[in-house]
Amino acid sequence: MDMVIAGGRIVDPATGHDAVGDLYIVDGCISDVPSARPDCKRLDAAGWIVIPGLVDLHTHLREPGDPAAETVLTGTAAAARGGFTTVVAMPNTRPPLDTPDRIGELAQRAAADALVRVLPCGCLTQGRAGVAATDMSALKAAGAVAFSDDGDTPLDERLFEEIAVKAQRLELPILDHAEDKRCSAGGVMHAGSRSRDLGLPGIPEEAELLAVDRDIRMAAQTGCALHIQHVSSARTIERIRKARDRGIPVSGEATPHHLFFCDTDVTSTDTRFKMNPPLRGEHDRRALREAVIDGAIAVLATDHAPHTADAKAKGFMDAPFGVVGLETALAATFTLLVCQSGMPLLAWLRRWTTGPMRILGMPPPRLAPGEPADVTVFDPEAEGLVDPAQFLSRSVNSPFIGSSLKGKTMATFCRGRLAWLDDDGAKRLRPES
Ligand SMILES: [Zn+2]
Repeated sequence: MDMVIAGGRIVDPATGHDAVGDLYIVDGCISDVPSARPDCKRLDAAGWIVIPGLVDLHTHLREPGDPAAETVLTGTAAAARGGFTTVVAMPNTRPPLDTPDRIGELAQRAAADALVRVLPCGCLTQGRAGVAATDMSALKAAGAVAFSDDGDTPLDERLFEEIAVKAQRLELPILDHAEDKRCSAGGVMHAGSRSRDLGLPGIPEEAELLAVDRDIRMAAQTGCALHIQHVSSARTIERIRKARDRGIPVSGEATPHHLFFCDTDVTSTDTRFKMNPPLRGEHDRRALREAVIDGAIAVLATDHAPHTADAKAKGFMDAPFGVVGLETALAATFTLLVCQSGMPLLAWLRRWTTGPMRILGMPPPRLAPGEPADVTVFDPEAEGLVDPAQFLSRSVNSPFIGSSLKGKTMATFCRGRLAWLDDDGAKRLRPES
């Protein structure tokens, strides 16, 4: 559908462009002239912000393996509603994405069902068992854009070194779930005074730090691009800063939930606050916010991890780790970072667009003529309580339910196709002529 997005504030982090104007979509691409087709539509975007579609470097689509929690269709519908046009699908499905055939099957499913672009991530090790490396070059040939055993870290140092050498040669990053499970086993929340008060077994910060230290050492030795997923600790941030100062190719990502909450929000009954790594202390949350604002952490990522209500009802000890995030990420980070912390709009947007694409070594989405029309329109003034009844995700395990957030996605276009249109967006859509 050709479109004129009229009178919005067009903000493009790839070029720094920030001005009110019209954006034209013609034949799936951005155009410098409007469409001549009679069925062209006009979206009145006055007062709204027009941006490139967001990129999530860390999404769990759960298909194959757990379609009751999420599918490619529902997960990408949630992504579109959240303003995302590209998601990187983590490989810890059942079975995992550890062969070229499985990468190919996901690509086929995405071609049939997905509302946004799905980029597959391949496993580091066969069966994610941490014993033998996958055929990483075959995974890349099949379409993998990165490697991860997310949910686990290969503990065998020699094996990790072998993997890092291969990743460096293939020029793809390792997305690193940095956790030494010899240190974290049995824990369900951050180990600290709160876990002692609640009588819940803790996950010490050292579980993350041990893995981060080893993996930064591996990145220094091999030159492979190491991206630390879901950074939870202030001390991890210090390590990333120091490594970058030394020229080691290390980066990190922060999730909205780690930026928003800390361990004092955890109660022993509410499993919406059980995730891995856990919410840590107030000091860690503050350090994470500072790092995202000053750019030491240049990537925001959701770690969207759907689980069924039954699974999450098993109690804090037994429920699985993880929270959904795609449908609240834009509003949560816009509210916290831009509205409350004064982060410039362009800098915030870079964390969701150019930042993640740089990790992948891929060109960022741009609002320039000839580029694929991956475009999100959001209302920066719309404010409301997060309501799970509106989620398109099949799961509702969100710690943001009931939070009042600012910023609402009105429309999302992926390759020029309307992937999401809010009811309030539909009210402003009409024929162009
Ligand atoms: Zn993880």
